[in-house]
Amino acid sequence: MQPKDSTSNESFKGFTNRECPFYPCHQGVRREFNCLFCYCPLIAYDCPGPYRVYTDKHGLRRKDCSDCRLPHDGYRASWAFIQKWLEQPRVWDGHEQSERYRPFRRER
Ligand code: SF4
Repeated sequence: MQPKDSTSNESFKGFTNRECPFYPCHQGVRREFNCLFCYCPLIAYDCPGPYRVYTDKHGLRRKDCSDCRLPHDGYRASWAFIQKWLEQPRVWDGHEQSERYRPFRRER
């Protein structure tokens, strides 16, 4: 049993920092804005988010997650999403997001 299973208090699943100078950093969040996963735990793993890929100044391929709301949309929902994708994490190899998830990206 984990500590989280011993309480009905779910406040550890999220919070909103309205004092943050970047809030709200992602548009389109419909539920409570969850800041807990500000630095997304899935950044180095495969994920279903609508990321774009860019190459940084060191030549490394990185995700641009500007269009992704998954770690931010609702305390419970984003918590559940992150837990699910960390159950069996697969290291991201720098590939572009699959066509399946691209419809969730905004046009720029
Ligand atoms: S696309 Fe979304 S889920 Fe994927 S790493 Fe970026 S913020 Fe996390």
